[in-house]
This record gives sequence, C-alpha cells and structure tokens, in this order.
Amino acid sequence: MKTLGLFVLSGCLALVSCSTQRYVGSHGEKPAVPAVVSAPALPARNATPPARNVILMIGDGMGSEHVWAAWLANQGSLNITTLPVNGFSVTTSASHLVTDSAAGGTAIACGCKTKNGQLGITADGKPMDSLAVKMREAGKSAGLVVTKSITDATPAAFYAHVKSRKETAAIADALVKSDFEVIVGGGSADFSAEQLATLEKKCQLFELAAPGNCVAAAKRPGWLASRVQKALDVLSKDKDGFFLMVEGSKIDVEAHLNLLTGTVEETLDFDQAVGVVLRWMQKHQDTLLVVTADHQTGGLSILGGDKEKGEVKGHFSTHHHSGVAVPVYAAGAGASAFAGVQENTAFFTKIQNAAGLDSRARTAK
Ligand SMILES: [Zn+2]
Repeated sequence: MKTLGLFVLSGCLALVSCSTQRYVGSHGEKPAVPAVVSAPALPARNATPPARNVILMIGDGMGSEHVWAAWLANQGSLNITTLPVNGFSVTTSASHLVTDSAAGGTAIACGCKTKNGQLGITADGKPMDSLAVKMREAGKSAGLVVTKSITDATPAAFYAHVKSRKETAAIADALVKSDFEVIVGGGSADFSAEQLATLEKKCQLFELAAPGNCVAAAKRPGWLASRVQKALDVLSKDKDGFFLMVEGSKIDVEAHLNLLTGTVEETLDFDQAVGVVLRWMQKHQDTLLVVTADHQTGGLSILGGDKEKGEVKGHFSTHHHSGVAVPVYAAGAGASAFAGVQENTAFFTKIQNAAGLDSRARTAK
C-alpha cells in the first residue's frame, strides 16, 4: 500500500511541473488558422482494391487528443474526422514502450520494429526496403512532403538505413542516391551545393524551403496544403500510380514544448492538407488515404473548452512522448483493412496489399 501511495504522489508532482493552458484563438476571438473547409465526405466503400495511388499522412506526435483539441478549436469540424474508417496503431518499439520518431517511422515505412534511434534497419541492424522503394519498384512514382528537415526521422525512415537518426550526413547522402519524384520540406543546410543540384535535377518537384525546419504553421499559412496539391499534380501524371508520404512534422515540436496554441495550429494546418487530398480523391477514387501518427507527444489531455467559441482547455503531462496507441483514419480503395487495433508495422503490409503488391518485408540491397 505504501508503494501505491508513492506512485500516486509522484504522479501528482509530475502533473504540477507540466502545464494546463487555454487555446482561445489568435486574439481570443477566432482560431489563429482560418477555419478548415471540409471536403465532401467519402463513402466507406467508395472503391475496391487495388489502390493505384496511396497517400500516407503522418501527424508527428498527433494523438487522438491533438485531433480533438484541433476539432474543438475549429468549432467542431475537421477533415480528418470525416474519414469513414477508424482504428488505432500500437506504437511500441523493439526497445521501448514509448517509441521515438525513428523507430516509429521505421515501423510504418519498413514494417519492422526497431530500437529507438535506429532508421530503416531491423533491431539487429539489417537494412530494410521501405514502402516507397517497393512502390517505385512496382512502377509507381514516389514523393515526400514534410514541414521539418527532410533528413528528420520520419521522412528518413523511407529512404535511409542508419544506426542513429543523428547521422545527418549519411541520411542526406541516402536521399541524394534515392529516386523520389517529389521532395518538399526543410533542411537545405544538411546538403552540399552539389547534392542540392543533383536533387533538383532528379526530382520533378524539389523544394527545401528552410535551412532547417520550416517556420511555424502561423507563419506559413497554407504552405503545406499548397505543396500537397503541387505534389498531387506532379505525381498523378504517372499512369501506374504513386505513393506520397505527407508529414505534419511540427505537431510534435509544439507538443514537446507543451504549447497548446502551436499544437492546435500545426494540427489544423495538417488537417488543411488532408482536405486537399480528400477533394482530389473525389475525382481519383482508385486511391487509398491513410492518416495516422508515429506516437503521441506531450501526454495531452482535454480538460474543457467551448466548441461554439473554438476554445480548448488542454493539459500536458510530459515534455516527452507518451506510450498510448494513436488514431488511424482511412478512406478510399482498401480503406476497410485499417479498422480496429493494429501494430504500427501493419501499415507496411496493409498498404501494399491494398495496392495489390507483394507485401513481404524485404532486406535492402
Ligand atoms: Zn515523432
């Protein structure tokens, strides 16, 4: 009983050190980011597999609570929450209950659990081909659109094989040697002028908009949504279809800082990009859209708010990631496979199954 008492006490102390905040919009009137225009809802069974195109959208650190904070802030409407198929993803890594973005990204991209910090390799160090590589091998185009550095853990899991996510030079080199048609994000300072010129030449759409991470959502209104639209325009020229990974990378940054306003703004910005995809899918129904997260950041909980006023009272319980399962939302061809509770490694298999490909995990050459 004494031990239980200590646990409760330490829990309370931890709570005191973290913050409860209110999101009241930019000046207490309206949400800082313009209201999301909801795309028309897609029916649950609007197309059967195989999916010619696959769009995987990852809100970094975006737990259910982040989605609901944004939903409240946007007065009860989001694009994400219109997706007809819902589930959960179990985010544990091979080494920790609480994953980092490298192991989380690797599970999603390569279908294997690995140790925290490792990218594109199994727990014992074997390099594994990612979804993007396997999709390209099937004749499809591939693209990455993110809001942090393109060498950051989540995008890097789709093209690099390194023991540490901190091996930026090796990660940059791997991107230069890869074959993406679309590369958009930040991180130009991670590449030499020669490497940048090579990428510019290889890609149909190439933009690194900042030396490091892109600026905050409030300072780049509509940037992510417009780049996702451009990526769709470029990739959809491939008659064999495409694979596009979009990351709302900075939801995680704001949640690490325990900043509720920034967390909400980044989530709304990501949701606008989801809206662009949903509108595009109205005319491209042989497409699978999956929206999920790699883990939850900040241990956010919603303690109150006002849907009519777009207000949220949120509480962060940690400056780190938490160990909860994260939400999965899916629409379009093959979406029904994503209902229910699944391991984070299941995206790799299920996405390839939906695309009619051989879904076995495979050692990289
Ligand atoms: Zn992450």
